[in-house]
Amino acid sequence: MNAKVNIVLILLFSSYVTSLAGESVSAPWGYKGANGPNNWGRLSEAYLDCSKGKNQSPININWAVKLDLDQVEFHYNPTSVFLINNGHTIQLNHSSGSYIVIAGSRFDLLQLHFHARSEHQVNGRHYPMEMHLVHQDRDKRLAVIAVFFRSGRQHKSLQKLWKKLPRKKGASVSGNAVINVTTLLPNKRSYYHYMGSLTTPPCHEGVRWLVLKNPVQVSKRQLNTFKKLFSANNRPVMPLNGRNIYTLN
Ligand SMILES: [Zn+2]
Repeated sequence: MNAKVNIVLILLFSSYVTSLAGESVSAPWGYKGANGPNNWGRLSEAYLDCSKGKNQSPININWAVKLDLDQVEFHYNPTSVFLINNGHTIQLNHSSGSYIVIAGSRFDLLQLHFHARSEHQVNGRHYPMEMHLVHQDRDKRLAVIAVFFRSGRQHKSLQKLWKKLPRKKGASVSGNAVINVTTLLPNKRSYYHYMGSLTTPPCHEGVRWLVLKNPVQVSKRQLNTFKKLFSANNRPVMPLNGRNIYTLN
């Protein structure tokens, strides 16, 4: 199959989609025990995709088809630091007007949040943390940029968020601080691409994943700050089931 045909298939497939906005998520879920990832599909009919879906995320990336993929264009504006502890992660709801362009399509940045350890694996290995930047196009199709964090220097820009982490479930923190989340991206932005799902209930599929290859650094102290709140909010990797992973060189 040539590259152009693949791209068309990706675009067709990505029309089976759902939106984060407007979900009425009901049954409580978590990362351990009876409410943990192995049981998500049993907690609610709305979560059936978690157990029955064949195109689930995250995955282990240990193989990829080289393809002449387009670079992602980032158009992120500064946003105020307004963080929410939703009981599953720390989330920053982004102000409107920031977006990416993938293959000519605009996807608006809605929110970003964090997982520790990483959800995706590369060659069977986790990174200590992963950030998800969730975007949506005007047809409510989702595209998520994943950024890995590796242990190293303190991340100055991340520290703007980490100073104010809301500790209690349901709590939020806002202030005068402003951040341009471009500063949370690696400088080199080549990526892996595959079609997957939300990594949390309801696990809906049709999500376009772009996993940046180059990690950014985070200090041990910054990692521990997050892990004090969420020590294991990563869904285990799911079977690939014949899907292709593409790589931009
Ligand atoms: Zn996520």
